[in-house]
This record gives sequence, structure tokens and C-alpha cells, in this order.
Amino acid sequence: MPSGSLWLEEPLSQYPPLEGRIKTEVCVVGGGITGLTTAYLLSKAGVKTVVLEAGSLGQGASGHTIAKVTFQHGLIYHRLCVLWGREAALAYAQVNSEAIEQIERVITELGADCGFVRQPAFLYTTLEANVEKLEKEAVIAQSIGIPAKMLHQSNLPLPIKGSLCFEDQAMLHPVRYLKALANGIIRQGGQIYCDSRVKRVENRQAETARGRVEADYIVLATHYPLVHFRGGYYVRLSQSCSNIIAAEGVKIKGMHTGIEPDGLSFRMQGDTLLISGENYRTGTEPKKNHYLPLEDFARSIYARPAGWRWAVQDYLSPDGLPYSGRHSTSLPNLLLATGFSKWGMTQSMAAARLLTDQILGYPNEYAEIFSPARRVGPSVGQMVTNSAGLVRHLIGGYLTRPLAPVCPHMGCKLQYNREENRWECPCHGFHYGKARPLS
Ligand SMILES: Cc1cc2nc3c(=O)[nH]c(=O)nc-3n(C[C@H](O)[C@H](O)[C@H](O)COP(=O)(O)OP(=O)(O)OC[C@H]3O[C@@H](n4cnc5c(N)ncnc54)[C@H](O)[C@@H]3O)c2cc1C
Repeated sequence: MPSGSLWLEEPLSQYPPLEGRIKTEVCVVGGGITGLTTAYLLSKAGVKTVVLEAGSLGQGASGHTIAKVTFQHGLIYHRLCVLWGREAALAYAQVNSEAIEQIERVITELGADCGFVRQPAFLYTTLEANVEKLEKEAVIAQSIGIPAKMLHQSNLPLPIKGSLCFEDQAMLHPVRYLKALANGIIRQGGQIYCDSRVKRVENRQAETARGRVEADYIVLATHYPLVHFRGGYYVRLSQSCSNIIAAEGVKIKGMHTGIEPDGLSFRMQGDTLLISGENYRTGTEPKKNHYLPLEDFARSIYARPAGWRWAVQDYLSPDGLPYSGRHSTSLPNLLLATGFSKWGMTQSMAAARLLTDQILGYPNEYAEIFSPARRVGPSVGQMVTNSAGLVRHLIGGYLTRPLAPVCPHMGCKLQYNREENRWECPCHGFHYGKARPLS
């Protein structure tokens, strides 16, 4: 019986660990979709680029995602209009729709066999009371040029009350895409090192256990930024985890995302139905088996759980916009991209283009809106909530320190997740294996 991520069944390319010192123009830390896309664009532009990955390529969120490649990101356009105004919503739609085109171009350039296929994407609700939310999203989407269509039926085996369709979105096999990007980086003269966890980033140097890279620029594509105190990322990001199962025996058309907090997400991969749901903050529900409700749901629609099942988290920004650009004013040569709020397939491409432009000294029309230095106004409420949670977990860690493990990063009390067999930090979502020594 298979288990773990369906995508990681694909054998991954192996790259050696970093040994000794090297000099380069850009060092990209992290071998997920963000790091590899950035390294691909930079090396294509003739920039000497080195990628350092802690383990193997795609081992993070990018190898565990659902991989809908879309600019339909929940009710994002309504949210952005309220928080930042119509211009921001328009920019978000533009940059993410350009990203789909760009991903398609890269796939063609690389001759990548990664199952990229155009499909419609649907947001749906099973509650009459929430149909209005879809209608509002439709009106805003149409006003910024998205041909969004409201429907009152769906091919999902669920009692749908309303559904909002964006045509011509896409999906792909994320790990095959990453493999193609990695091959492209190497062909363009870039270097990739795996099993090379960066322990420290300082003065344009990234240091691993056995080596060091000196670079003009360092890009943190580590999902959660390594350097998180400067820049205050520990309160500007929060994590949300979901579980995914694969099932057989039922086929659906298109990609579907529920808008309720407990809504499910669906897409096919070949003949296999992927179902994602059970959203929670990592490290806060250690005792619950989140797979059981998904498997029960699958059986209720006459699908058979196919064995693959996994949990994955992403980082959310308080205002729904990612952080892409300079890490902080005090570290001008350190760049980062994070906070994709569960929509990193297109946003990683948008971020990679932005970071590449910044490194090459070109203007980028989206630099200001995605800047980590943007004003925090609309985010203050969420940041206060994040801070309150952090303080609570820090106090918990301090009081139980002699008896229970705490996170070596900040000292928050860790929770043991039996289902995933790992310790989890409720503050910033880091995981630690059962056997890992803890402070
Ligand atoms: C349930 C779920 C479903 C999702 N579905 C979709 C979807 O359908 N469509 C969509 O657009 N997005 C989706 N996403 C979001 C998307 O998967 C992520 O935003 C995206 O994969 C993040 O990519 P990344 O490269 O930034 O991070 P990652 O893929 O996590 O890559 C970061 C890499 O950095 C490495 N690393 C970390 N620390 C170090 C270090 N110190 N030294 C060296 N390397 C390091 C890690 O090992 C990892 O390989 C989903 C997310 C979730 C949680």
C-alpha cells in the first residue's frame, strides 16, 4: 500500500552536498518551487547561481501540494479590494495570470513532461448563506477583467449551492516540474547542492556544516525565512496545515475549492482523486487524526482511499499578499519570498521574476505591492493575534522547559503529532523528527 505524497513517488534527481568554499553571484537557499524557479530565471539571464537545499529537492511544501496553477485563490479579490483597493486586486490578477503563461513557457522551453494541462477552476459553497460571497467575488473579478461565471450546479458529488468558475486555469505534476527546472539550472551553468542545510546567513555568506558560499546576493526561498527576528517575520507569518488523501473509483472534472473554513479541495491526477481539507494551525491539534474524516468522506461518495496520504502546511500573510523582495532595510543583499497563503504555484513564479529583476537592477511594476516593507495598516489586527499566540506558547515553553521539549528557535513548547510521528512548533510550524535531540 503506498503512503506519503503521491508526487514523491517520482524518483528525484540527486545532487551532492556542498564541501568547502565557493564564490558566486547569487546563492539561493531552498530547493522548492520558489528557489528552483528563481535559480532557473537567474541562470537563464547569465547570472552565476548556486542552490543550497537542506535535504532533497521538493521535500518541502512543493512536493506535498495540490498543484493547481491558477489565479483563482479563494475569495482573494474581494479581500484585496477591501484591504488595499481595486488597484491591488488588479495587480494580483495580472501578476498571477502572467505567471501561468510564464510557467507554460518554461515547460515548453525545458520540454518538461510534467502533465501541465488547462482546466477550469471552481470555488464552491454548500451553504445557501455563502452564495452571496461568491457573487461578490464574481462582480469584483469581472470588474478587473476576469471572465468569472457564477453557476448553480457542479460535477462534484456534493450538494453545491453555488459555484464560481474561472476558465483556462491549469494543473501540473509539481515534482516532475521541479526536476525539469533543476535540469535547466544545471544546463545553464548553475550549481545545485542537496543535503546542505544553511545554518547561518551573514555578511553575504551562507554557511552549511561542511561548506560556505560567498555571494553578492542571497535569496531565502526556505518557505519560512531563516532570518526571522530582523524583519519581524515571526509575527508577520502564521502557518496553516491541511491533510491530503488520494482516492480511486470517482472522477471529477476541473479543480474545486470550498470557500468555507472546513471546505474541501479536489482535483484529479490521472485516475486518482486528490482530496484536501482539515485545515488547522500546525502544532495545535496534536491528538486529532485528520485523515479519518477525509477517508470517511471519500467512502461516502463511493471512492476508495488509495493509500497515499500526507499533511502539508503553508505560511499565510495577514493581508493575503505574499512577501517578495528585500528581507529588511538592514539587510539589503538578502532577498526572500514567502507567505504564499496556500497559492504558491503561480506566486512563486511572480516572486522569482520580481527577485530576478531586483538582482539585475530592472524595475518591476509589482515590487511595491509585494514588498516586505509595505505598510502594515491592514495587517495590524492579525499581527496582534499572532503575537498573542506567540507569547502564550513561549510562556508554555518556559514553564514546562525541564519536562517537555521546546523549539530551539524561539523556545515555544512543542507538541507531539502522533499521526505524523513528529514534534511540531505551534509558533512557526517547524517539525522535528521523533529522535531529534531537543533543547
Ligand atoms: C494543503 C496545501 C495545498 C496547496 N495547494 C496549492 C495549490 O493547489 N496551488 C498552489 O498554487 N499552491 C498550493 N499550495 C501552496 C504551495 O504548495 C506552496 O506555497 C509552495 O509549494 C511553497 O514553495 P516554496 O518553494 O516557497 O517552499 P518549499 O517547497 O517548502 O521549499 C522550501 C525548501 O527550502 C528548504 N530549506 C528550508 N530551510 C533550509 C535551510 N536552512 N537550508 C537549506 N534549505 C532549506 C526545504 O528543505 C525546502 O525544500 C498548497 C499548500 C498547502 C498547505
